[in-house]
Amino acid sequence: MTFGINDLPVRDELRGKSPYGAPQLDVPVRLNTNENPYPLPEPLVERIAERVREAARGLNRYPDRDAVELRTKLAEYLTKTAGYRVGLENVWAANGSNEVIQQLLQTFGGPGRSAIGFEPSYSMHALIARGTGTGWISGPRNDDFTIDLAAAERAIAESRPDVVFVTSPNNPTGNAVPPETVLALYDAAQTVKPSMVVVDEAYIEFSHGRSLLPLIEGRPNLVVSRTMSKAFGAAGLRLGYLAAHPAVVDAVQLVRLPYHLSAVTQATALAALEHTGTLLKYVEQLKSERDRLVTELRALGYDVTESDANFVQFGRFADAHEAWRKILDRGVLVRDNGVPGWLRVSAGTPQENDAFLDAARELKKEQS
Ligand code: PMP
Repeated sequence: MTFGINDLPVRDELRGKSPYGAPQLDVPVRLNTNENPYPLPEPLVERIAERVREAARGLNRYPDRDAVELRTKLAEYLTKTAGYRVGLENVWAANGSNEVIQQLLQTFGGPGRSAIGFEPSYSMHALIARGTGTGWISGPRNDDFTIDLAAAERAIAESRPDVVFVTSPNNPTGNAVPPETVLALYDAAQTVKPSMVVVDEAYIEFSHGRSLLPLIEGRPNLVVSRTMSKAFGAAGLRLGYLAAHPAVVDAVQLVRLPYHLSAVTQATALAALEHTGTLLKYVEQLKSERDRLVTELRALGYDVTESDANFVQFGRFADAHEAWRKILDRGVLVRDNGVPGWLRVSAGTPQENDAFLDAARELKKEQS
């Protein structure tokens, strides 16, 4: 037996656990991690090189600890696209929205505290809770993957969580959460004691509907988290951000590491924000490809969950993992999130989606 993790004096709650890991397999068509399939356009690559060169001249110094220019530009982007005015004081940025979520749990969760999410949902909420010593409560959903509001309100009243996660559009199911539901959950989360409600809008740019950002007005315990990993096509950049009452922005600074956002990251994100218009055109293309996947999968006889994201949940399979393997055998990697009977496919380029639909068609024939 080789010496392993469990031979080390690791924390009890980490013993026997596995790290987050979507398979990174080398197959022709990879539609498993909800990435944007389009590489950044060449003029933007040039602009990044220019901005990074400029930043490199100052790398002997620590970066702007408060990322003022970047947060100002992110606030402008939100104001323009979400129809609600936010400023620098409302916005905080970190290395991916995963780090934003970690900072929120370090600030508002932690040992002796708990967080709730309505599952199936983004699995990192529970994992980051564990990593920060925050208790995790798995809240319910209806069979159609909408949030069962009455059951959710009961769960909040009973378990009295300190943080409530609402993912809209939800991952892996794809459906958006109506504003009335978020408002009801917010109210439920304030009745026992004041609790934070975090709306994870990683996929909001792909939605048919609008951002819930305006709901932060008059609700200091509501946080909206965002990312440049999906709509901006910059998963490799690692840039996430949040918008909330300025007090939340002050609070997360109690736990952030000093200089957490490198000068190179800030320079790259600023360059990408200069090209927002072009990048959002890819979003339009991906939305129409997403809608095509929904229509064609239904025409093939699959059940498909309504999608407001850049991916689609489809089923049902007696054995989802076996179906995942058969699609992989045809050179297409989709995602088995462990939701019994269902798989998830990210919207790729039209050619990638055609390859996936061919595999899905063959699988259907084989099964009938
Ligand atoms: N939230 C949700 C719902 C996600 O699906 C993801 C990425 N898969 C993230 C947050 C994290 O994204 P990132 O850290 O790349 O910003």
